[in-house]
Amino acid sequence: MNDLDPLQAYREKRDFRRTSEPVPGGHRTSGGPPIFVVQKHRASRLHYDLRLEVEGVLKSWAVPKGPSPNPRDRRLAVPTEDHPMAYADFEGIIPEGEYGGGTVMVWDRGTYHNLRAGKPGQEPVSMARALEEGQAEIELHGTKLRGAYALIRTGRGDRERWLLVKMRDDEASEEDLTDTRPESVLSGRTLDEIAADAGG
Ligand code: MN
Repeated sequence: MNDLDPLQAYREKRDFRRTSEPVPGGHRTSGGPPIFVVQKHRASRLHYDLRLEVEGVLKSWAVPKGPSPNPRDRRLAVPTEDHPMAYADFEGIIPEGEYGGGTVMVWDRGTYHNLRAGKPGQEPVSMARALEEGQAEIELHGTKLRGAYALIRTGRGDRERWLLVKMRDDEASEEDLTDTRPESVLSGRTLDEIAADAGG
């Protein structure tokens, strides 16, 4: 983590002459409520990447099994480097041999609300502070993911790990959204269709 340039790690991992992923620069805010995106990413292993707009960057976690609307599921979330805001629109191919090489889909996208910003009887906690504390509670307003989710840090340091867990509310459900809603919210395509379009 670099306080001066939160995107330094993002830059260092990529060769922008080879990958079509966004080069940092450009807009540093969505201009409205903060956004979230979940990208389905078929790299060496299929996983989902959760990204939350916080102070001009997309804070990111790799979620191997993807998010679940079922409060009984505790989904492992492994922190990854901050991504530029423009990454929320990225869908396509990362060349093989490059970092994260494989197919990327915008699986869900929308805005979120930091529930700790206005809890009755409690000090308001900013999203950045909530993440520093390892205890974030957010309400997602996506196409597929809706309602309150908790992000809780478990291990620290080199073993930093988080859990992504649905909180109990009217949007909780036992539906396996990764199974029932496999398609892109941006283009309606499956991973195979995105891969085929890029290759064709
Ligand atoms: Mn990924």
